[in-house]
Amino acid sequence: MRNAQREFVKEVVNQRLRLQNDEDKSFWVLKHREDIHCIAFHMLGVVGYAIAFYIYLHPELGHIHNRTEMAAFVAASVLLLGWVSGINLGLNFHNHVHRHVFRVAWLNRWFGRFWALTGGWSSRLWFHSHVTVHHADTLGPTDWSVAQQFPDGSFEPRWKYSLLHWPWRYYKHLWMDYRSDKYPRLRREAPKEFLIFVALYSIPFWIDPMMGLLLWFLPHYLGNTWTLGAGMYVQHVGCEKEDEIHPFRHSNTFFSRLWNLMVFNSGYHNLHHMFPHVHWSDLPEFQRLLQTALDADGASALRIGYFRASVELTMRSWPDILERYSNVPSAASAIAPPDAQGRASAGA
Ligand SMILES: [Zn+2]
Repeated sequence: MRNAQREFVKEVVNQRLRLQNDEDKSFWVLKHREDIHCIAFHMLGVVGYAIAFYIYLHPELGHIHNRTEMAAFVAASVLLLGWVSGINLGLNFHNHVHRHVFRVAWLNRWFGRFWALTGGWSSRLWFHSHVTVHHADTLGPTDWSVAQQFPDGSFEPRWKYSLLHWPWRYYKHLWMDYRSDKYPRLRREAPKEFLIFVALYSIPFWIDPMMGLLLWFLPHYLGNTWTLGAGMYVQHVGCEKEDEIHPFRHSNTFFSRLWNLMVFNSGYHNLHHMFPHVHWSDLPEFQRLLQTALDADGASALRIGYFRASVELTMRSWPDILERYSNVPSAASAIAPPDAQGRASAGA
């Protein structure tokens, strides 16, 4: 039955994708016109860094006259840039990693390098961590990108994960993967990509070392540990590795409309892991198609977003949060999964 469910879900998605293939959604150099939002979000983030650097170097422009005022400016900038950088890297650049946004190969490569840079990452290393490690074996023994699990299936606390993961565990595992024989392509490409990253990343430090530390590294630290760390944690906490019995319990789905509006629909995370090639703008439509199949497998779904879930984790356990905010939207428009004999019933 479970295999029939999996095949049914695949067939529904493939049918819809075949229909989409007939429609040209490209716009200028973009493969998909909706990706204009991704580019605009990233460019606004870059402008944010440029303005912060400029005011730091010309404090009189921001009416900053003493150390206290400068400290307040830096603190506010770090919070804002950190929040935006975490989303821009983990949820926006993330879309580009799965489906390149441009129709030109060199533009994808170079735009991607600068894109990941504003989140404190080499684009090549992020690809390895997210696609080769995380997607290929989500919650499995080789997925070192997620929170560590104890033998009873529970997860390490969210704060511990955030504080220990970036950059410490990431770089430790990236180094181990680089040294191993398991990833020959990573071994070939990582040195050059890392050098490009270091050369570009060091530019703000050459201009002013303190500015580089406060308004470049610190926002990246915040973006990776608190924004991205919290997101990665709640996306998979309480979940199980995919298996024959439960193929759809590997991720949590978050239905908050406001949240999904801000983060390129990344709340539809279960669906994203099943079909990473589905465009982010199409995820709500595919979710409606597959809702009944996901519900039948007991896949978790919450009516809140990552941010709320992460704040709730400071007060409650994950099972409590799941019970309190559990959400199964109306499946009226969903297509029913096959029954125990593998027969698909008519879609409502
Ligand atoms: Zn992904």
